[in-house]
Amino acid sequence: MSFDSLGLSSLILKAIEEKGYSEPSPIQAQAIPAIMDGKDVMAAAQTGTGKTAGFTLPLIHRLSKGNLAKPNQARALILTPTRELAAQVHQSVEDYSKHLALKSVVVFGGVKINPQMMKLRKGADVLVATPGRLLDLYNQNAVRFDNLEVLILDEADRMLDMGFIRDLKKIMAFLPKNRQNLLFSATFSPEIRQLAKGLVNNPVEISVAPANATATKVEQFIYPVDKNKKPALLTHLISTNRWEQVLVFTKTKHGANKLTKYLEQYGIKAAAIHGNKSQGARTRALAEFKAGEVRALVATDIAARGLDIEQLPHVVNYELPNVPEDYVHRIGRTGRAGASGEAISLVSSDEALLLFDIERLIGNVLRREELEEFKPVHPLAESRLGKAPKPKKPKKPRSEHHDGQRSGEVKQGHQHNAGSAKPASRNSRAPRGRSNNNNR
Ligand code: AMP
Repeated sequence: MSFDSLGLSSLILKAIEEKGYSEPSPIQAQAIPAIMDGKDVMAAAQTGTGKTAGFTLPLIHRLSKGNLAKPNQARALILTPTRELAAQVHQSVEDYSKHLALKSVVVFGGVKINPQMMKLRKGADVLVATPGRLLDLYNQNAVRFDNLEVLILDEADRMLDMGFIRDLKKIMAFLPKNRQNLLFSATFSPEIRQLAKGLVNNPVEISVAPANATATKVEQFIYPVDKNKKPALLTHLISTNRWEQVLVFTKTKHGANKLTKYLEQYGIKAAAIHGNKSQGARTRALAEFKAGEVRALVATDIAARGLDIEQLPHVVNYELPNVPEDYVHRIGRTGRAGASGEAISLVSSDEALLLFDIERLIGNVLRREELEEFKPVHPLAESRLGKAPKPKKPKKPRSEHHDGQRSGEVKQGHQHNAGSAKPASRNSRAPRGRSNNNNR
């Protein structure tokens, strides 16, 4: 299939050609015709599938046929969970509409609001926004939606994870009812389907990969290692393999800072990116990483979400995430746009249950590698995909959870899946709250 057959205008095709894309990706081939038809769409697609162009190209095609935005009005609203993703989506909109007269504006928190208010005065054919800042701007009368034609939620699952549901509801309440709605999410969880009920009408459902399946071109394996040896193992891997660009995930902001310092001490140029860093510092770290000046970008899950770094060859899970779905998101950073990638996890014995949860979710036991000098003293329990352990009877009732484990989360997952090799049902999980986002 070629882009020419999709009915996009010649000025958009020109921009696509200048980007060097030869054919639509699977999500684009499915989403573009449905959106061009004016239908509501629900699409399950992760970052790296080309989803941004999947909604942006038909959007700007539609907008270029109508009247340009009036002062302070927005004709299309794209909501994203993070500032980084907002900036990236905005950049894509600018790139694809470079030969059109459309105006696009991006707004997010963490920076001054006044310049954003000034920009909105002229109106926005496409407004890309994070929910909180959008509400502030709306409440200050900086933006109006009387002429809104299209609403897009990008990475809707992450917006729910980050506790944006109330903000989303407030926003939807002031939008005109008659509009096209597009909902993009990495997975169609029950929470997303609930959100969709009040949002999309009779949607076309699109899915480019089975829900929760990890990208096949990513080679995944783990190194069982003692916790205290993780910094040295990471340094060893980066140095001996001569990795020039590696994205490293830690669970906490503090952990990201500590590891960054350690790497720098050993001569590996590193930068941390997380919620406590100013917008300027985050943008700078990302730019330096992209330019090859920083070798290791150490990130927490939320900060890294949606980062568009092309052809990232190596992703390291320095610590496994508490929520197994985050593993799928993390390794979505590598092996994108046709390039192959490597996702390596450093797993200590206390992370065994997190590992099993991940393996159950992706339906695979991860290959184990070992380096003689980093052989763990505390062995990592064997994987038990399909062989769930018998639930232990606690001798005494306990009120406390260990190691940040949330109520019912890890142990339940195994019990529910006794004797089954299938990925765990997400219904069996404790709800994902906002609480453990605080330190990410
Ligand atoms: P996304 O999933 O939207 O984050 O896009 C992932 C990457 O794929 C971005 O760097 C895009 O520039 C690139 N991309 C999007 N569409 C195509 C295409 N049809 N052919 C090649 N690369 C693409």
